[in-house]
Amino acid sequence: MTESVELPSRLAILPFRNKVLLPGAIIRIRCTSSSSVKLVEQELWQREEKGLIGILPVRDAAEIKSVGPMASQSVDTDSRERNSKIQVCSSDANKLDAKNQSEIVHWHTRGVAARALHLSRGVEKPSGRVTYIVVLEGLCRFSVHELSIRGPYHTARISSLEMTKAEMELVEQDPDFITSSRQFKATALELISVLEQKQKTGGRTKVLLETVPVHKLADIFVASFEMSFEEQLSMLDSVDIKVRLSKATELVDRHLQSIRVAEKITQKVEGQLSKSQKEFLLRQQMRAIKEELGDNDDDEDDLAALERKMQSAGMPQNIWKHAHRELRRLKKMQPQQPGYNSSRVYLELLADLPWQNVSEEHELDLRAAKEHLDSDHYGLVKVKQRIIEYLAVRKLKPDARGPVLCFVGPPGVGKTSLASSIADALGRKFVRISLGGVKDEADIRGHRRTYIGSMPGRLIEGLKRVAVCNPVMLLDEIDKTGSDVRGDPASALLEVLDPEQNKTFNDHYLNVPFDLSKVVFVATANRVQPIPPALLDRMEIIELPGYTPEEKLKIAMRHLIPRVLDQHGLSSEFLQIPEAMVKLVIQRYTREAGVRNLERNLAALARAAAVKFAEQEQAVSLNKGMQRIDTPLMENRLADGAEAEMEVIPMGVNNHDISNAFRIASALVVDEAMLEKILGPPRFDDNETAERVANPGVSVGLVWTAFGGEVQFVEATAMAGKGELHLTGQLGDVIKESAQIALTWVRVRATDLKLAAAEENNLMEGRDIHIHFPAGAVPKDGPSAGVTLVTALVSLLSQKRVRADTAMTGEMTLRGLVLPVGGVKDKVLAAHRYGIKRVILPERNLKDLVEVPSQVLASLEILLAKRMEDVLEQAFDGGCPWKQHSKL
Ligand code: ADP
Repeated sequence: MTESVELPSRLAILPFRNKVLLPGAIIRIRCTSSSSVKLVEQELWQREEKGLIGILPVRDAAEIKSVGPMASQSVDTDSRERNSKIQVCSSDANKLDAKNQSEIVHWHTRGVAARALHLSRGVEKPSGRVTYIVVLEGLCRFSVHELSIRGPYHTARISSLEMTKAEMELVEQDPDFITSSRQFKATALELISVLEQKQKTGGRTKVLLETVPVHKLADIFVASFEMSFEEQLSMLDSVDIKVRLSKATELVDRHLQSIRVAEKITQKVEGQLSKSQKEFLLRQQMRAIKEELGDNDDDEDDLAALERKMQSAGMPQNIWKHAHRELRRLKKMQPQQPGYNSSRVYLELLADLPWQNVSEEHELDLRAAKEHLDSDHYGLVKVKQRIIEYLAVRKLKPDARGPVLCFVGPPGVGKTSLASSIADALGRKFVRISLGGVKDEADIRGHRRTYIGSMPGRLIEGLKRVAVCNPVMLLDEIDKTGSDVRGDPASALLEVLDPEQNKTFNDHYLNVPFDLSKVVFVATANRVQPIPPALLDRMEIIELPGYTPEEKLKIAMRHLIPRVLDQHGLSSEFLQIPEAMVKLVIQRYTREAGVRNLERNLAALARAAAVKFAEQEQAVSLNKGMQRIDTPLMENRLADGAEAEMEVIPMGVNNHDISNAFRIASALVVDEAMLEKILGPPRFDDNETAERVANPGVSVGLVWTAFGGEVQFVEATAMAGKGELHLTGQLGDVIKESAQIALTWVRVRATDLKLAAAEENNLMEGRDIHIHFPAGAVPKDGPSAGVTLVTALVSLLSQKRVRADTAMTGEMTLRGLVLPVGGVKDKVLAAHRYGIKRVILPERNLKDLVEVPSQVLASLEILLAKRMEDVLEQAFDGGCPWKQHSKL
């Protein structure tokens, strides 16, 4: 490589299309075209000593640029060239004559003489064409003076462009040359060390730097990397050594930079790759271990399914990020690892929650809504009207922040079913959240996930269940929430019901905000008083009083019976409950404000009927299409061992028809006997009051409970003792004090009331008084039993019986004034249910009577009392004879 080459004046020319062979470069080419094969054959293969050929770059006319000296020649001039084909490794030279004949190729005027290092000959089947594979080494530059065609290939008259030894020595003295060669060597060294580092090869290349002259080195280096054709040409054209060196330095330096940039990128990519590869590897190992253990449940598939579910859950962007982070954490965990399950359950919840899923609200038709309400509920005119108003506002302004409706009333009056009717009218889904007995704030807001067994709150749970974010949500029994050390559920509910805050409701378990603003909230309560004022402030109370027996009858006939029959797979063809029987059920078996027990009793009747029919049906199907004729005659015959006579039912009649025949034949009509058989002996009767007040010392009070109004008997009795008052029946402080006040008042007026002679005015001398409030197991409190207590005491001490048809309510002051009480409407309704005819009320409660249905008022005598004496006057038969003598 180092020795200088003697070039002949003429060289056979092998064209390289768009490719340059530089001195010092080694290249392997495959010659297949006839001209190149001929060239190789004549110039290289058949010669004893290895000859030289010239490699000349050519380029297409289309690509020509004024980059260097080029000579043009039309290939068309020589028809023999037509089939010439030169293959030059990756070069495009083989396309030389594949192009159109008339195409002009441009020959470069400088080329490189090359020597064949290796030659091999092959025969291409089936045509028998010969091909050569030649390994060429570039030796030195030459310049073309004349290009001509000799035989099948080109030859050129050339002259070498290499410097003579003397010239070379001269240049080596040139300081410019010295600097450029130093610079080049430094850059080349740098490149070598970078490459060696990369490929971890030995210092072989470095030896080159020491041994090869620098001007040759420049070519060798440049030839070793990928460059554009233009750059290769300009390198070829750099005949001047200084120019060549500076060009080579520039190219080597550029190559060095690009290697560095590529290295940086690779390092980055490698870093990432190795991390994920590591993960992949570990996972594979984990899977293998699991398989070994027989523990290969499809966790991965599950997680992929979970991820898909999460993706389709429509979470807001920030929540998705949070969820995705958690999922990544989960993926890295082992299923046996603590926290795996909780994390998974958490993500399942996130994926299940209806972040965007809504039930499509249809155009609200108020008339249809009204019809719907009417068809579902009897009576309740005012309530239904208010609901329609509420719906009308929603129709006009769907996002109106109207108040939360809260239905208040005793159980079974239709609060829940009204709320569900609202959902129907709005075309939304309905979900009921029971708040009864909720004392822990976590029940509403959930437990933080750090707790073992933590769960989301009831609201989030409900939303998951209903799977839409805009349901009608019923907060049932909102008055039954209480607060204790575990927090205050009411304050959490406040946040829920506040339109300003519920957009970002924060469930502790969920730990990301959930938008509750699309939920329509409706609440129910038995009583208003226990509801915290702040909560009450957010709601509009709609009271549902209890029903009168007449209303109950209508509700039963129109709504309950058809529904109950339907629920039991029956119809009026099978079971008929006459109105009179329903009335009896109402009177004797239920004494409630609502209709829940009534419905239960009717269901009991339906159940009994269903059993009966089901048994009959079975009997028929067992007979397999045949019905036995049970006649005494037949029984006799059977007894005699004779063959039973059968009636064959025609083939066309199926079991269904048979059972129908049964049904129609024996449609059950409920009668009194059946009522007793199924429902048991009557639980209540109208004589109860009369029986209970048969002895002096018992009075009838009216009280108010969570179940609506109730009749409450008060029993008093006296016995030998030390003048003490005994109270029983789970009484609260207020009621105990009422009893004390009552006794004091009676003792003060003992003489006036003719309970004791004037001279022995200590009523309690030598005796104790015991007052009891049945039912003993039910806690009672409140001041409204004041008048009832006094009446019982007066009855006891005077040994006069209280009127059985009269009930009373009212708080009494120490001086005997009767003060108004609450729940008058419910109390009057309760008296009506009990069949009581007269009700004594505080005078100041007169205004409350407007709420009582008129038919109830019509059936009752309402007596208003201002003072205790007025009560006594009305409570006893024949009035109160001692009234006139009263001085107070
Ligand atoms: P609440 O929620 O007040 O305790 P529900 O709504 O559960 O009561 O009602 C109990 C049953 O009584 C339901 O089957 C309901 O349809 C029925 N009901 C109550 N009031 C009426 C009414 N006015 N008309 C028809 N059915 C009624």
